[in-house]
Amino acid sequence: MATLAPASTATRVIPGGSFLISNPSPADCFFPEDFTEEQRQIAQTTAEFALNEVVPASDAIEAKDFSVTRRLIKQASDLGLTSVDIPEEYGGLEMDKVTSAIIAENIAKQGSFSVAFSAHVGIGTLPIVWYGTPEQKKKYLPKLASGEFIGAYALSESTSGSDALNARTRAVLSSDGQSYVLNGEKMWISNAGFADLFTVFARCEVKEGKDAGKERLTAYLIERGTPGLTIGSEEHKLGIRGSSTCPLILTDCKVPAANLLGEVGKGHHIAFNILNVGRYKLGNAAVGAARMCLGNGIRYAKERKAFGKTISEFGLIQEKLAAAAIGVFIGEALSYRTVAMIDAALAGVDQQDPAAIQKAIEDYAVECSIVKVWDSEMLDQVVDDVVQIYGGYGYVEEYPAERAYRDSRINRIFEGTNEINRLIITGWLIKSAMSGKLALMPAIKQLMDEVMAGPSERPEREGSLAEAYALLDSAKKLTLFAAGAATQKYMQQLADQQEVMAAIADMVIEAYAMESGILRANKILSGKGSADIATAMARVYAEKAMEKIEISARRVLAAVAEGDMLRTQLTILRRLAKHDPADTIGLRRQIAQHVLRAGKYAL
Ligand SMILES: Cc1cc2nc3c(=O)[nH]c(=O)nc-3n(C[C@H](O)[C@H](O)[C@H](O)COP(=O)(O)OP(=O)(O)OC[C@H]3O[C@@H](n4cnc5c(N)ncnc54)[C@H](O)[C@@H]3O)c2cc1C
Repeated sequence: MATLAPASTATRVIPGGSFLISNPSPADCFFPEDFTEEQRQIAQTTAEFALNEVVPASDAIEAKDFSVTRRLIKQASDLGLTSVDIPEEYGGLEMDKVTSAIIAENIAKQGSFSVAFSAHVGIGTLPIVWYGTPEQKKKYLPKLASGEFIGAYALSESTSGSDALNARTRAVLSSDGQSYVLNGEKMWISNAGFADLFTVFARCEVKEGKDAGKERLTAYLIERGTPGLTIGSEEHKLGIRGSSTCPLILTDCKVPAANLLGEVGKGHHIAFNILNVGRYKLGNAAVGAARMCLGNGIRYAKERKAFGKTISEFGLIQEKLAAAAIGVFIGEALSYRTVAMIDAALAGVDQQDPAAIQKAIEDYAVECSIVKVWDSEMLDQVVDDVVQIYGGYGYVEEYPAERAYRDSRINRIFEGTNEINRLIITGWLIKSAMSGKLALMPAIKQLMDEVMAGPSERPEREGSLAEAYALLDSAKKLTLFAAGAATQKYMQQLADQQEVMAAIADMVIEAYAMESGILRANKILSGKGSADIATAMARVYAEKAMEKIEISARRVLAAVAEGDMLRTQLTILRRLAKHDPADTIGLRRQIAQHVLRAGKYAL
């Protein structure tokens, strides 16, 4: 059995989704402070490559000169940056997922290139790593690792994006069993303009088993130049304009049977499993982009003068810089915490066994969706604030804020829209609760008993994070309380109440983000880093998250109860949410002064 050696920093295996009903300690979680020396070096190498090679080529990239993008991916390959997820025997470095996420974060200094790179190393390569036959791996992985081949992933169609299982593209096995003939059209395919290898999903008739006679999603490896495969014209996009996005047209496209990836009818496993990885990596890339934007915002704020001062001296500018710094801090915390949990789970899994890998990753579907939603929305707020810091200059092309603003928007759409990811979060938790996989129901029952018994003494905590921990405790209780009330009212029909599902997801997301920040700050308190600033960031975020949780809980309760019942529930809500507010204005000023002094995000 080929298993990955657990990284020296691996945490213990923590079941996915369990954070709501447990109290993990800082030692249970992995944060950037836990990076190994090797991981730090890889971060630095990647960041230097992105700054020195990619950013200066920005104009050519944005002009869709794909020879430049190809050359840069090749250069990245020469540094080993495209091969961390590929097994050694196929020319890869076979490293942990945290390292892969570090690369995704640090390469993200030019949006279009970041998307091209991620599509190649992620959705373009991983399907073969996990589901390829030894022959397919031998044939393609060394070329993908070296950058000789560029990969792409073709799942979406013009009439089915979120609803990907509803694809119309069909594959039919030839009568001699030697090939499949594909007909249909794929849409929005990243890297299509210059990719050499496409993982294409089509419906194909299943011959045996419970789905025999039905057409189910199936994956195929199709090389550029295969007769019947035509690449359509480039889309003209709002952002990431330098990335390639084209349709694929398949007209009697004959694919050798040897290029079937995985099994007929099992393509949905490949599609969705790869998307989970895509989601957390998108999160890392969003954090990297936010860090870059913050750096630009700081530089500009220190140079620009108004009313006889640099604008960095104004409280309302400092507030935005602090918010961006907090975004990066919390984003890193929840992203790396999640990836490391996946690493810990994968460490004990046979790397040749796709089903086992799939199961291990699927267990963290909630966390992957949280990372995707939280980080993409955080980045959208940061780019917006940075445009505002630049004032009128933020609105013109010559300044970096304008492109960052446009480039950010796609992150809420691809890798599953944020609506779909919110539905996944609540849906997955409720399903796990109903099946008994996750002990949410007993936790809700215990909470109900507790709140019905009236006000209780809160456990006393000491130290600078005491208030934040108390808020976290309340946040989890409120989330369980509102989720419990909604489940009780709608039972199995909760899935039809999308707005309620999304409001519950918002609470879950904020509780995870809040906890990740607090645990990270706590870890920094007893180790490396600027403890005062980390604590300030965790405290400000805890307040903000609690505000959001309270609003969402109120919305859920108002939807599920009325009259006396609603009034009772709102009394409980107020009791759970009660706290003395922290001075977030003062704390934000402290954070802004710190980043202004450092000239960048620095802990
Ligand atoms: C630049 C770019 C690059 C892309 N790269 C790739 C790629 O490399 N490979 C690939 O396969 N695809 C790619 N995509 C496709 C992308 O994944 C889809 O656009 C995305 O999944 C959304 O699908 P859609 O566009 O069909 O929107 P729809 O699914 O039609 O959604 C429209 C709206 O309805 C909402 N919605 C849909 N279903 C539900 C529901 N059940 N409940 C509530 N709301 C719902 C959505 O959230 C959205 O707001 C890319 C797209 C873009 C724009």
